[in-house]
Amino acid sequence: LRQRVIRAEKMEVVGHLAASISHEIRNPLTVSRGFMQLLAQSKDTSEKNKQYIQIAIEELDRAEAIITDYLTFAKPAPEREEKLNVKTEIERVIDVLRPLANMSSVEIQTTLVPFAIKGERQKFQQCLLNVMKNAIEAMPNGGTLYVNVSIEKDYVSIHIADTGVGMTKEQIERLGEPYFTTKGAKGTGLGMMVVYRIIETMNGIISVHSEVDKGTDVYIYLPSFYADQMDKAIIQNKRALII
Ligand code: ADP
Ligand code: MG
Repeated sequence: LRQRVIRAEKMEVVGHLAASISHEIRNPLTVSRGFMQLLAQSKDTSEKNKQYIQIAIEELDRAEAIITDYLTFAKPAPEREEKLNVKTEIERVIDVLRPLANMSSVEIQTTLVPFAIKGERQKFQQCLLNVMKNAIEAMPNGGTLYVNVSIEKDYVSIHIADTGVGMTKEQIERLGEPYFTTKGAKGTGLGMMVVYRIIETMNGIISVHSEVDKGTDVYIYLPSFYADQMDKAIIQNKRALII
């Protein structure tokens, strides 16, 4: 019993310390970046060394961007599939993105309904974050991010739209290709790859429509939790009939 108690306590410590993996990795990156900047500003630093420091800072920023696209909501414990409320999850992601939206004068308009789907919470949040972050980044001079939830047959539909720079047909076709980015050093080209992979594991569908200088519409369809339950009931009944 004693051993078990100690183990339980240890688990709790892990839970508190590493509330989020991204937070734990970001902290040392931020500290290192801060000291690099101090060095870069110091009059004792030669021009040559300033160039090296600049490269180091850019690489730290790249690591930070990759963590954002992969691990924003990641926690040390393994994930389980559970019943998720799309409204709650979308609101959580919007909370995280609001500072970024404010920086670019992007207004956020939502029509959210608390439909249920099945999935791993962190992965679903990461998927929403990557799509909404792209939408905000497509509006550097302001605009509106729309997020609407509705139900279509057995699918919960999440419509994410922006009034940003839009994409050409060629760009839409390359979406999800690893390292495809039009954002230069600031982009990872990994965000949409992660999105496509997560939607696939959730048995969902994604469809993207875009027009250059008008904006982009992303539709994500995920099987409704209840449709899924109903399918199972039907399959089980059929089996019963066959037997
Ligand atoms: P990153 O954002 O790091 O560039 P992503 O995989 O998230 O990588 O996106 C790949 C590319 O797809 C972006 O660089 C951009 O050109 C394009 N893109 C994605 N979403 C949008 C959007 N909402 N509006 C305009 N372009 C977009
Ligand atoms: Mg992105």
